[in-house]
Amino acid sequence: MQFFETSRQIQAACREVRREGRTLGFVPTMGALHEGHLSLVRIARSQCDTVAVSIFVNPLQFGPAEDFSRYPRTFDEDCRKLVAEGVELLFAPGTEEMYPTGACTTVYVEGLSEKLDGKSRPGHFRGVSTVVAKLFEIVHPDRAFFGQKDAAQVAVLRKMVSDLNMDVEIVVCPIVREADGLAMSSRNRYLSPEERRHALVLYRTLSCVRDLVSRGERDASKVIATAAEVIANEPGVRLDYFAIVNPDTLDPVSDVSQAALVAVAAWVGNTRLIDNLLLPANS
Ligand code: AMP
Repeated sequence: MQFFETSRQIQAACREVRREGRTLGFVPTMGALHEGHLSLVRIARSQCDTVAVSIFVNPLQFGPAEDFSRYPRTFDEDCRKLVAEGVELLFAPGTEEMYPTGACTTVYVEGLSEKLDGKSRPGHFRGVSTVVAKLFEIVHPDRAFFGQKDAAQVAVLRKMVSDLNMDVEIVVCPIVREADGLAMSSRNRYLSPEERRHALVLYRTLSCVRDLVSRGERDASKVIATAAEVIANEPGVRLDYFAIVNPDTLDPVSDVSQAALVAVAAWVGNTRLIDNLLLPANS
């Protein structure tokens, strides 16, 4: 695996990949890699000749009171995992490389960036779209791989790519879960054993929603009321949002006969976790 710290270097390596006529798959991450990240790498591997991964804990997507400084950083272990997956190119820049003093250009997907996590985390999606736009400019991948786990992020990035005519295909990969259903996340390591048990309420609630809908419930407000009650009854868990929305516009839907994204965010102790479920049309 070739490792690059500067955008100039990896830009040249990626140019060489394209010059050789090889397709390039790209998986952007913030590191602290788990099986969820590695599933993206494996899907990229199966679809592209060369795989590039980035590891960058992006300060721009963290609010001032959020966990940027204590976000887990496990670089050596991450490298071992990526080597084992046969990743060819790794880009792990420092903050000054990505945001040199004086940089003042950002990318903002207006209208989507204020919804769901964007509402609870003002500025978050500006940080995400800016860093991903920069990474796309640096790597120029044919395909970029993102997790369904971050469903609002997927909607924001798809819109960015479409609005800015970016020549990259966004591939969305399924949520990888622990055996008991908890969606894998780098932040799960913040949870105490007791919080870890309480955190299961997110998956339990989404499973309950799936059952309700499969038994014929179509009224989104009734589904939301039931789900909110399940979460309210779980000790140590504080709901941030529970929403049923159009997966592209992130606008609320009233009827789940159409394709719908059921998304939840909740605080378990001091840790904010998210999860979601995609309901196909007429599910
Ligand atoms: P992060 O390092 O949290 O920025 O995540 C990097 C990429 O991995 C994003 O596209 C995430 O959506 C994806 N990802 C994180 N957790 C999971 C998971 N449990 N299953 C699938 N993809 C995931």
